[in-house]
Amino acid sequence: LHRGATVADLIVSAIARFPERPAFANDEATVSYRELGHMISRIAQHFDDLGLRPGDTVAQLGVNRFEVFAVIAAIYLRGLRSVTLHATGSEADHEYVLNDSTADVFIVDEYHRARAEALKPRCPRVRAWLSIGKVPGHVELASAIRDYTPQPLVPTGDSEQVIRLAYTGGTTGRPKGVMLSSRALVTNALLDLSTKDWPTDVRYLCVAPISHGAGSLVIPTLMQGGCVTLLRGFSIDGVIAAINTHGCNVTWMVPTMLYGLLDSGRTGEVDWSRFHSLIYSGAPASPTRIRQALATFGPVLIQSYGQTEAPNDILILGRREHAELADAQLSSAGRPYPQLRVCLLDEHGVEVPDGQRGEVCVRGPLVMSGYFNRPEETAAALAGDWLHTGDVAYKDADGLYYIVDRKKDLIISGGFNVYPKEVEDAICVNPAVAAAAVIGIPDAKWGELVMAYVQLKEGCVLSEEQITAEVRLAKGAVATPKRVELVSALPLTALGKIDKKALRARHWASDARAVN
Ligand code: ATP
Repeated sequence: LHRGATVADLIVSAIARFPERPAFANDEATVSYRELGHMISRIAQHFDDLGLRPGDTVAQLGVNRFEVFAVIAAIYLRGLRSVTLHATGSEADHEYVLNDSTADVFIVDEYHRARAEALKPRCPRVRAWLSIGKVPGHVELASAIRDYTPQPLVPTGDSEQVIRLAYTGGTTGRPKGVMLSSRALVTNALLDLSTKDWPTDVRYLCVAPISHGAGSLVIPTLMQGGCVTLLRGFSIDGVIAAINTHGCNVTWMVPTMLYGLLDSGRTGEVDWSRFHSLIYSGAPASPTRIRQALATFGPVLIQSYGQTEAPNDILILGRREHAELADAQLSSAGRPYPQLRVCLLDEHGVEVPDGQRGEVCVRGPLVMSGYFNRPEETAAALAGDWLHTGDVAYKDADGLYYIVDRKKDLIISGGFNVYPKEVEDAICVNPAVAAAAVIGIPDAKWGELVMAYVQLKEGCVLSEEQITAEVRLAKGAVATPKRVELVSALPLTALGKIDKKALRARHWASDARAVN
């Protein structure tokens, strides 16, 4: 009677409430909620015929398209487990995740043909190879499901069942399979729904892979009868066209995408007064750039801080707060989402007073069930019944939290602690800077040295010496980069975050620091 809502319940009720409305729309096609429901039913029946049972795992590798979401929804309906591979991952990454997750089925799209061929002999546990589009050696999903008659959608399972293994971005090491239950994902959807100040007619533009942070907003959109426009990949053209053609009024970006849009010289092509929310999340953002974004887009910004282990929703800085806060507070990641307890703990597990730095720890229904098959890492992450995020923050007297950086990114130079984000923020104050990444590099005398990679805006000029002089003035000698390298582009992860692991690997080739 009281099994607790599952994610499938949320999707099924949206389909029942808004059958005729468009659920997904792009330049090529529009799919109604009814059509989406039919497709989910057909896929679920095919999963039954493949002999899949609750707890079995279906992995997908594909670009953003509505079929990928329909597969995920069918997985949730049957209480299976969904794994989505990062499209830009290497062959070794994909092999690792398919085997680590013990995937039973692998669905790939036509853009990843060669990858599928290479993986087949190396993933012996996979027993069904399906495809969206034509891929040799795979059964095309569309033809496999064509003959099923759509059935009423009846979710199975309960809220504690793990229905998703979300592999971490691997920014700090080997990806881990974060076990997410329906409880966590329902909480995620309800928190998004209750805090993100949605427009009446939601048209969500999904510019990042639906398999990750950006995808978590698809379900709250559908719960409101809204429409999702999926971009296959982030591009300025794509964003501008989707807003102007499909009337998209909500989107989610990592800061690097937001900076790209700001620097494109094309923001004038959109009437931002008709746009509602631009949610930025996934990595630290520079306050200078946020002020610039507010001046360009108006009061549409929402910042969310979270991580795969507590899917995306730990702290939020809302639209109103962006407009009302004092300038200095704009570097805040906001306040805890409702339903969560957030505290900052020192290394002994004791809460630190306001103004002091501690690790962000979280309790609440959003938190993961653990890492798949990694009992030691699970015990460490959930020690004392708190999720230890690995991020350092402080809280001000108004209850606003400020993310300082990741614990693992801390640079210890000659015994002094330097948090890269503080140096990056100081560098980004200069209007010629597009983005900056600061890392520690090995040094025989100081242990580590502060090094900055800086990407300038197109056509801008700034010398290494100017950069170091500005940081010295703002942050003092210890935080001043001892080396600065100007680059035409910073390396990015699959989600578009700055890939510090790749930058560190250039200096720590044979050292654990590179992968830690
Ligand atoms: P891995 O966990 O494998 O290293 P990843 O870092 O890409 O990979 P995610 O769970 O996607 O994994 O990233 C979450 C992290 O991103 C957070 O722990 C935090 O360090 C950073 N982050 C996310 N949102 C924000 C934000 N609004 N401000 C500052 N940092 C953020």
